[in-house]
Amino acid sequence: MTDLKSVKSGLETRLAELEARAGRIEADLAEPLSADFEEQATEREDDDALEGQEVLLGREIVAVKAALARVEDGSYGECTRCGEDVGEKRLEAHPEAALCIACARELENH
Ligand SMILES: [Zn+2]
Repeated sequence: MTDLKSVKSGLETRLAELEARAGRIEADLAEPLSADFEEQATEREDDDALEGQEVLLGREIVAVKAALARVEDGSYGECTRCGEDVGEKRLEAHPEAALCIACARELENH
């Protein structure tokens, strides 16, 4: 039986970290480009990399929030696609996992 309390606090900690990181990235992106043309090119490249990170972070934040919602409504640990158990080992490695390994593999292949 999964210890939902520790799962929940783990997810909450993770969410706080992710949001802090997303906040820093946003602050970085909000900085105006420097007046120097050559610097601008580097800064644009940095910004592109940051935007990529921001997208990934955003997805993870959504996944963690959804996992927290599933803890709340009691469906945590069930695959959101087929309803089977996600599996304790998988949840240990990926507490935010919404899909069982079979569904995750199937979706990856599409
Ligand atoms: Zn499934």
